[in-house]
Amino acid sequence: MTRSANLGFPRIGAHRELKAAVEAFWKGQSSAEALLATGSELRTRHWQLQKSAGIDIVPSNDFSFYDHVLDMTLALGAVPPRFAHAAEGDLLTLQFAMARGTDAAPAMEMTKWFDTNYHYIVPELHADTAFKLLSAKAVEEYREARSLGVETRPVLVGPVTWLSLAKAKDEGLDPFDLLDSVLSVYAELLAALKAEGAQWVQVDEPVLALDLSERQQAALQTAYARLAAVGPKIMLASYFEGLRDNLELATGLPVAGLHIDLVRAPEQLGPVLAAIGSEKVLSIGVVDGRNIWRANLPEQIALVRGAWDRLGPERLEIAPSCSLLHCPVDLDLETALDDELRSWLAFALQKLEEVAALTGAIRTGMSSVRAAFEASAAAAAARQASSHTSDPAVRARAAAVTEAARRRKAGYAERRAVQARRFNLPAYPTTTIGSFPQTKPVREARAAFRKGALDAAGYEAFLRAETERAVRLQEEIGLDVLVHGEFERNDMVEYFGEQLAGFAFTRNGWVQSYGSRCVKPPVIFGDVSRPAPMTVAWSAYAQSLTAKPVKGMLTGPVTMLQWSFVRNDQKRSETCRQIALAIRDEVLDLEKAGIGMIQIDEPALREGLPLRHDDRESYLAWAVDCFRLAAGGVADTTQIHTHMCYAEFNDIMPAIAALDADVISIETSRSDMELIEAFRTFAYPNEIGPGVWDIHSPRVPDDADMERLIRKAGEAIPPERLWVNPDCGLKTRDWAEVTASLANLVTAARRLRAGV
Ligand code: GLN
Ligand code: ZN
Repeated sequence: MTRSANLGFPRIGAHRELKAAVEAFWKGQSSAEALLATGSELRTRHWQLQKSAGIDIVPSNDFSFYDHVLDMTLALGAVPPRFAHAAEGDLLTLQFAMARGTDAAPAMEMTKWFDTNYHYIVPELHADTAFKLLSAKAVEEYREARSLGVETRPVLVGPVTWLSLAKAKDEGLDPFDLLDSVLSVYAELLAALKAEGAQWVQVDEPVLALDLSERQQAALQTAYARLAAVGPKIMLASYFEGLRDNLELATGLPVAGLHIDLVRAPEQLGPVLAAIGSEKVLSIGVVDGRNIWRANLPEQIALVRGAWDRLGPERLEIAPSCSLLHCPVDLDLETALDDELRSWLAFALQKLEEVAALTGAIRTGMSSVRAAFEASAAAAAARQASSHTSDPAVRARAAAVTEAARRRKAGYAERRAVQARRFNLPAYPTTTIGSFPQTKPVREARAAFRKGALDAAGYEAFLRAETERAVRLQEEIGLDVLVHGEFERNDMVEYFGEQLAGFAFTRNGWVQSYGSRCVKPPVIFGDVSRPAPMTVAWSAYAQSLTAKPVKGMLTGPVTMLQWSFVRNDQKRSETCRQIALAIRDEVLDLEKAGIGMIQIDEPALREGLPLRHDDRESYLAWAVDCFRLAAGGVADTTQIHTHMCYAEFNDIMPAIAALDADVISIETSRSDMELIEAFRTFAYPNEIGPGVWDIHSPRVPDDADMERLIRKAGEAIPPERLWVNPDCGLKTRDWAEVTASLANLVTAARRLRAGV
C-alpha cells in the first residue's frame, strides 16, 4: 500500500515554546527537568499532529534541543578535548557547552546547512577521537513515541554527510580516515534501534546533492554495504538538489529505500525509475519543504502516478521534498494575513495534509480527496490570475533593462580620481559598516510605536535624537566617513520589505536559524517595486548635521532575495532584478538628496551559490548583474560601497571584482587577515576595507592590534587602497564597547598615516 511519509517536523513549536524553554534554562530561570518536559511535550504533540494530518510514516529523533548535527556528534562521542570538563556532566549540559562555549572553552564553529539558512554545529575531528555510542537519544525517542502508540521511523544524519561536514583539527588528517570507527558506532546504534523494534531508519545523506570526491563516493559504498547488513531497513534520503551524476551511485547502494527531491529536480524521476531496480522502495518528495507555497495537487499527482505506474503500491512513499525544519509550523495561526495571500500558502502542517491528499488520491481514489484537490486547483488558478502578483509596469521596466543601465559611466581608475577630489579623504580612511547599538531603549521605542503606545511623531523624535547622538559621537571620535546608525531598522531585510510592494510579513512564520534563534523571513509574493523613498529622509537628516560625508545604507537585492521566502511562479533571477530596480530608485534618490557615498550590503551573495559547481556561473552572472543594476545609475563622483561578511572569496573573486563597487568592506579580523589573500592573488583593483575588529566578541580591540592587522593587509593590498573599519555592523554591541573600540581604531589609522 502506498504510504505517506514525513522526513522531519519543525522542532521549535508553533509558539516557539522550545526557544522560551531553552533560554529560560540557560538563564538559570528553570530546571533541566522543566526543559526536558517541554521537549517531551513538543515531541508528543508533533507526533500526534502528524498522525492526525494523515501521515503513515512519522519520524522520530528529528527533535533536538539545539541542532541535529550536534546530536549526531554526541551520539558518536566525538566530543572535542576542550570540553572534557563538561563531559562529566549530563548530556544536556554538555551539548549546550559545545554549542555555546563555556568560560573554559570556546564554542564549536557553526555554519549553514547546505543552501538553507539553518546553521549546524561543525563536528571537530582529531586523529585520536575515540568514537563510542555516547548518546542513545535516537533509541530513547523511538521508545518514547512507541509508548504513546506511535510507530516512528528514526532519523539519523548519515555517516558520509557527517564526515563531509566535519573539520579535521589535526594536520594531515582527512575526516574519511576515520570512516571505519565512525561506522562501528553507527552499526551499534542501528542494532540498538533494531533491538528496540525499529523496522526502518531514515538516514539523511544530503551530500548526494553535491559534487562528490572519489573518497566520498567510496565512503558511501563502504558505509551502506556495512550498515544495510545490520538490521533496520534504511531509507536513504537525498534532498536539496537532483542526484545528477550521483544517480547511479545512489540507486546502486544496497539500501532498502531511496528518497529523492522532486521539487528541486522533478526531471530526475524518469532516470531514477529507470535505474532503481526491482527491490527498493522509492520515496518521492513532491511537496516543497523549503518554501511556504501551497502545492498544486493536480500537477503533483501526475508525478506520483508516473512513479506508481512503474513501482506499484508497495514500493512507493509520498513525502515532502525534505525535512519541514525549514518551514513555519501552522498557517492557521496567521489570522492577520491577507486572505487572498493566505489561500496560496501552506506551512508544515498544511504540507503534511497535502502529502496525505496525494497519497489518498493514489490509494483510495480521487473521490476521497476531491475537495482538497479542487481547493488546491482553485488556489493555483486564483494566484495565477491575481492582479496582486503581477504589475505590468514593473515587468515592462525589467524587460527593458540593458547592459548600459548596469555600467558605471567611467571605469574605476577615472572614478577614483574624481572621487578623491570630491571627498579629499586622508590615507587609511576610517568608517563603520552601518548600524550602531540597538539598545534596549531603541527596541522599546520601536515596540511601543508598533503597539500604538508611542505616536509617529514621538517615535520619529526619538530616532532623530539617537541619530544625532551617533553623528556627534562619530565626529568626536574622528571617523572620516559617518553613518546615520540604522536606529529606525528592526532588521536589514524586513525594514526594506515593509516598504516595498510585493512583500508580505507573517505574524508567526518562525523558522529555526540556529539553537534557540529563529527568523521570520518575509514572503515575496508579487512583482516588487518601491512606492516611495525608504531611507532618504534618515540619510539626509544625518548629513544635515555634519560636514563629513555620511554613507547611505541599503540592503542589496541578492540578500533581500536570499533571506526571504521567494515566489516560485517566476525565476529567482527575475524577482531579484525587480528588487534591484527598486533599490536603484532609492540609490538615485539618495544621490539627488546630496548623499555622496552609498553602501549596498550583500552579505548573502556568497551563500546564494548553488550546491553544484555547474550551476554557479549562471547564478553569479545574474547576481552580479542585479547588484550592478542597483548601483550603476549614479554619477562617477558618487562612491558606491558594498559590504560582505562571513564569506570566503577565493572561488568567487571574478564575481566580486565584476560588482565594480568603488569600496568593499569585508569581515577579516577573525581570520587574522587571511581572507584578504584572495584579493591579493586576484590583483583586485578597487578599494577595500578589511575588518580589523571582530564585532562578534565583546572584547575591545586595542589600537596596536588593529594597526598590526592593517599593516598585514598592506602587504597584500597597496596601502593607498585600504580603508579601516570593523568587520560588520555594531548593532549587537553596547555604547561603551563601541566608543572605546572606535577610538582605538581611529588611533591605529592615524598612526599609520603618520608612518610611524
Ligand atoms: N549595514 C548593516 C549593519 O551595519 C550590515 C549588516 C550585515 O552585513 N549583516 O548592520
Ligand atoms: Zn556584515
